[in-house]
Amino acid sequence: MIVMKQDASEEQVEAVVARIESAGARAHRSRGVEVTVIGAIGDREQVARLGLEGAPGVEQVVPILKPYKLASAQLRHGEPSVLEIGGARVGGDCFALIAGPCTVESREQMLATAHAVKAAGATLLRGGAYKPRTSPYAFQGLGQEGLRLLAEAKAQTGLPVVTELMDARDLEAVIEVADAIQVGARNMQNYALLTEIGRAGVPVLLKRGLSSTLEELLMASEYVLKEGNEAVMLCERGIRTFETAYRFTLDLTAVPVLKGLTHLPVIVDPSHAAGRRELVEPLSLAAAAVGADGIIVEVHPDPDAAICDGPQQLPTDGFAAYTARVEQAAALAGKALSSVATAAVAG
Ligand code: PEP
Ligand code: MN
Repeated sequence: MIVMKQDASEEQVEAVVARIESAGARAHRSRGVEVTVIGAIGDREQVARLGLEGAPGVEQVVPILKPYKLASAQLRHGEPSVLEIGGARVGGDCFALIAGPCTVESREQMLATAHAVKAAGATLLRGGAYKPRTSPYAFQGLGQEGLRLLAEAKAQTGLPVVTELMDARDLEAVIEVADAIQVGARNMQNYALLTEIGRAGVPVLLKRGLSSTLEELLMASEYVLKEGNEAVMLCERGIRTFETAYRFTLDLTAVPVLKGLTHLPVIVDPSHAAGRRELVEPLSLAAAAVGADGIIVEVHPDPDAAICDGPQQLPTDGFAAYTARVEQAAALAGKALSSVATAAVAG
């Protein structure tokens, strides 16, 4: 990592980039509030031989010891990344409430949910058109028709959309509507998929694998980042433990720990961890209070009739009150609910 001086000129930054590339390494520029940092990714010895310490405009050369480089907090000098997702800010002081059904089921269900979460103040709309189901005999999602309904919900509400991509062959169709692509827990280590999404340059919500360590999650994010795509949100959604009293164990310790290790925003999914509706709100409040940069929560107009994940979906009725309480918990951690509208007002 090459830290440039505060008053380094653009030419000096360019010159360092050119020297890194001449050694066969890749240069990754990151402009912080105070300084520009250049990540040199390649053979450590070869980069060291360039003798960049003392080059014009260079403040210091610091090796990043972690195996994940572009995701590391060090790369941005401990400054959090604030991402722009379809016009809404996520990260730093901006708290994202991502809400919507588990899966897109019908036009009525999708539009009713979208309008309800929009009215409650949600930041982004979720909904799966391609669903990773444990059983191959279970409903697999509406596919293209689901994407079309998401596009309609987005057009009507103005909410940016997050939806899952499971197969790189659907990438083009998904990015026509998605403002952020969800990579599900089961695909966290699908490195070919991560690379393709990295190249597409679309923001990503990367969910932690059911049995993945934080380091594995960060290494997975590195696959996206190394393609030049800097917009990655990490998502804790519960992990497998010996406990069987609820669906997964929500690892809230991961939130402050990840925030120490990475500059990327950290989102929490209380719905899939809980598996039961009555646990969703307490876990949401805890997640917000512990410093998460957002929550992704499942909401449905009639959860008992939902095609999948009914028991854990919150009803649209009462969602505004839930949002108000989550907003208060986020304020405890110094964050305010973000929306496309607030971003526009803030200019
Ligand atoms: C989902 O968000 O609907 C989902 C399937 O999540 P996960 O990949 O975390 O199980
Ligand atoms: Mn679900």
